[in-house]
Parts: sequence; C-alpha cells; structure tokens
Amino acid sequence: MSRPLIDGHGRVHRDLRISITDRCNLRCTYCMPEEGMQWQPREELLTFEEIERLARVLVDRFAITAIRLTGGEPTLRAHLPVLVERLAPLGTDLSITTNATTLDRMAADLKAAGLRRVNISLDSLRADRFFELTRRHDLDKVLSGIDAALDAGLTPVKLNVVAMKGVNDDEIVDLAAFGRNRGIGVRFIEFMPLDASGGWARDRVVSQAEIVDAIGAVFPLDVVPRGSAPASLWRYRDGRGEVGVIPSVTEPFCGDCDRIRLTSDGMLRTCLFATDETDLRALLRGGAGDDELAGLFATAVGEKGPGHLIGQPTFIRPRRSMSQIGG
Ligand code: SAM
Ligand code: SF4
Repeated sequence: MSRPLIDGHGRVHRDLRISITDRCNLRCTYCMPEEGMQWQPREELLTFEEIERLARVLVDRFAITAIRLTGGEPTLRAHLPVLVERLAPLGTDLSITTNATTLDRMAADLKAAGLRRVNISLDSLRADRFFELTRRHDLDKVLSGIDAALDAGLTPVKLNVVAMKGVNDDEIVDLAAFGRNRGIGVRFIEFMPLDASGGWARDRVVSQAEIVDAIGAVFPLDVVPRGSAPASLWRYRDGRGEVGVIPSVTEPFCGDCDRIRLTSDGMLRTCLFATDETDLRALLRGGAGDDELAGLFATAVGEKGPGHLIGQPTFIRPRRSMSQIGG
C-alpha cells in the first residue's frame, strides 16, 4: 500500500534523481574546476544493490513515478546497463541526464536494458566554444551520441542548454533551430549558483524572458499552459515542436517542486540548494529495514523548506557543486 511522499507545504514528491558517480570526463567551466574534483572513493559510492533497494522502497511505499540517473557523468559508472536492468522492472519513467560523449557506443545497450529516454547536455554547436566551455575537444562525440540516442529509440531525446551571458547567449537561436531540425525538444536552463569555482553572478544569468524573446523573434511561439513540470513551455507556431526554459533563478518553480535527490555517496537531498542532507548510506549499511528507510524518507521530505533563496541576502551556497549533486 503506497502513500504520497508529501511535505509540510502540500507538495507531493514523485520524481527521484539519483547521482551514480561524481566523476566526469568533461570539465564544464560552470560545473567543475579544470583539474576535476577529489573523486569519491569507490567504497563510498552506493552499490547497485543499495541503489535498487532505496529506489524500490520509494516506488513501493510512496509511488515515485520517475527515476532519472545522473552524475557526474552517469555513463562513466561501470556496468551502467546492469543498473538500468535492475531499475527498469520498477516501471517508472526511467531516464538519464548525460553529456552524450559515450552514447555512440552505449545507447543501444541502455535501450535494451530498459532505459526509456535521455536528456543530453550541450551548450554550444561551435567546436572552439565547446572546447572553451568543457575543456575537451569532444563536440563530435556529443553529436554522434545524439544520433545514437535517436537511432536507438531513446526518445524523446531532450537537449539541456545552460544559457550564460557573454558565453553562449548568441547561440540561443542556433541551438533552438538545431532542436527543431532534429525533432529534439530543447530546454534552456538559467545559470545557477552551483558552479564549483564560485564564478556565478546574477548578471551572467540569461533570463527566461530574454531567451523566449530571442527565439520568438525568429520562430514565432505560443505559450503552452503550465503543467507541474519545472520547464515553462512554448510551442512553435509552425508546428515544429516545443521549446522550454527552466527559470530556476528568475521565476523559481519551488512551489511545484516534486523532486528528491540521492547523491552517489548515499545522501538524501530534498532540494538542489539544500544545506543539509540525510545519511541513507549509514542507515543502509547499519542494517536498517524497509520501514525504517521509509520513515526516514517521510521525515526528511516532511521537513523540506518552501524554496531556495537565490538572490536574497540569506541565500547560502550549498557545499556541493552541481557535479556532486546531479542536476
Ligand atoms: N554530466 C551530465 C550532464 O552534463 O548532463 C549529468 C550531470 S550535470 C551536473 C546535470 C545538468 O546540470 C547538466 O544539464 C548541466 O548543464 C547542468 N548544470 C551544471 N551546472 C549548472 C549550473 N551552475 N547552472 C545550471 N545548470 C547546471
Ligand atoms: Fe560533467 Fe555534466 Fe558537470 Fe559538464 S555539466 S562537468 S558534463 S557533470
């Protein structure tokens, strides 16, 4: 018998994000320092058994309906298709967020293992800029990875773009056009203060309004009535699909947030910007039963705050960067 995973503000949580590694093969300037981070030792990572157990408790007890695997770069976790095979029978909307650099060799195996769809992160279509942004010459691999995901039927493929002033804001229309031409929904994400180097500044955020104005001037748009998803959506008037913005900074969607997050070392975070975490790994490894785990999920979510405070004097940057939380 399942019950809703509900917090003190009436929000029901259905979406579970699981980071399965903190490692990454790219070094996106807004996410990781050039030298990488201090990677977590292997024994600190949740095992596949532990991940499956936590996911199962959440699905069985609280009717979680979506599971997204993320990282670091989730495709770097050894034997990822085996984990997907373990999670697929839970029957959720199972997806990954990936930089796609390895998808040309992994997409078919992931699909066969039961993965439903992928979100691919790509912030520039220009090789020189891609290198500046990621410190790696891997644009061709990402483009092949996108093709492989489409060929494997990991659909709908979605593209995540972090829009940054003076960095890639002149490519917003090109990236939207790329999505339109390939039948890929593009989601522009407002730059958030979760970068490892602390280089975030409010004036580097390209706002939702600026993004929509730029695209709408070239490809006329109609707004799609807001659902519960964090992305605000617009439909191309010529019928060539949709484009979205995740306006975490200028129009936070905290009031509709239905997400919880597990870090690769087994910490439960009820908000991207949480400054406290609940240690599930200690509980699991201490022999906790399912009732105890379920009780802990209910308590932690019950205590979730109303929303983040970006831009306000009381905002505190979380200790972890985005690569350690999972996005
Ligand atoms: N490595 C995978 C990838 O890049 O898709 C998964 C992990 S990555 C941390 C998840 C998402 O977070 C990516 O779409 C990335 O662009 C986004 N991201 C990272 N740092 C961000 C920041 N400071 N503000 C907004 N989005 C960010
Ligand atoms: Fe790696 Fe993704 Fe962070 Fe880029 S955004 S450094 S690909 S984890």
